[in-house]
Amino acid sequence: MKVYADNAATTKMSKTAVSAMLPYMENIFGNPSSLYSIGQEAAEGVYNARLSIADDLGCSPKEIYFTSGGSEADNQAIRSAAEIGAKRNKRHIVSTAFEHHAVLHTLKKLEKEGFEVTLLDVHENGLVTPEQVEQAIRPDTCLVTIMYANNEIGTVQPIKEIGAVCREKKVTFHTDAVQAVGHLPVNVVDDNIDMLSLSAHKFHGPKGVGVLYVRKGVYLSNLIEGGAQERGKRAGTENVPGIVGAAAALKESVNNLSESTAKLVKLRDRLIDGLLEIPHSVLNGDRESRLPGNVNICFEGIEGESLLLLLDAKGISASSGSACTSGSLDPSHVLLAIGRPHEIAHGSLRLSICSENTEEEIEYIISEVPKVVSYLRNMSPVWRDLQEGKKSYVIQ
Ligand SMILES: *Cc1c(COP(=O)(O)O)cnc(C)c1O
Repeated sequence: MKVYADNAATTKMSKTAVSAMLPYMENIFGNPSSLYSIGQEAAEGVYNARLSIADDLGCSPKEIYFTSGGSEADNQAIRSAAEIGAKRNKRHIVSTAFEHHAVLHTLKKLEKEGFEVTLLDVHENGLVTPEQVEQAIRPDTCLVTIMYANNEIGTVQPIKEIGAVCREKKVTFHTDAVQAVGHLPVNVVDDNIDMLSLSAHKFHGPKGVGVLYVRKGVYLSNLIEGGAQERGKRAGTENVPGIVGAAAALKESVNNLSESTAKLVKLRDRLIDGLLEIPHSVLNGDRESRLPGNVNICFEGIEGESLLLLLDAKGISASSGSACTSGSLDPSHVLLAIGRPHEIAHGSLRLSICSENTEEEIEYIISEVPKVVSYLRNMSPVWRDLQEGKKSYVIQ
């Protein structure tokens, strides 16, 4: 059986998105800046996509800026707030220790440029509180940037309340909502958001397309100089098929949200319960304030990478916290942020499902993971020490 359970990394494009894009790759290939009709038809595609996405987020189309993805949107949002902050002599930024690297690495760079960054501690349940945000804000704070939902452990922050604190303190509030949009009801007005990043490939749209929402009146700097696209804020001929596909995928996700959420929550909870039957395992992140498709579990005495390779051999695509792609064996900064010790953080498994996953697939995962965990534990010297009582279990 082949089971794709890594939807937090990327998703398969929906048929709706693909068929919305095809005409813009075949016949309507004009440049949206051109005046003749084939260009204007392409411009209309972009215009309608902007309207559609604005409608889904609850904002005006003038507040939507297309980008090359979530990372670019995060970079531009943070850079813009920092630029205007510096002009006003405000060089302090509040964020959390478990943001995506697109946020954390941008903040690191800003620190080198003279900004001061407060990273809020994340509670063991994977949540930060509005009170923590309120206490961290200072007179020189120019930005609060806190993710809507975490990509590893799936926890959903009290964004509306955090936004209200920022509004009251008159501090710009940005949220990386890449894991939330298309998966949770998100409305930028209700949620008191000034800037929001999203990425199409996380909700069954194409890769390389994102959106930065910027509330009217909030400063946005030019990321790329050149033409007048995106109201002069981001030059370059628009990724027309991508933009059209992003809008189609989002509309479909939003329309099916309540149905897909109900289905996913059932599958997710079955998966969590099934996997927690494995001795010395623990769920990462709050069970309630959690994305409908996210499961993240640590197994004591094993190592995530080996687990993934063996699961791959069984046809299961999943992910682990550790950043194996970068060639480093550092455990996930997210798991460390919620207080998991190094050796436990190494043994993590993230399964992120979508509404195309079936009950049979979930049962298959539940039957295969325990076998692989036992196999790995049987060859692990750490596990032997635990069993022989030479070391004590961290996860009871
Ligand atoms: C995937 C992801 C990003 C990056 O989005 P890209 O479109 O791949 O650049 C940023 N933040 C979070 C939370 C993500 O999950």
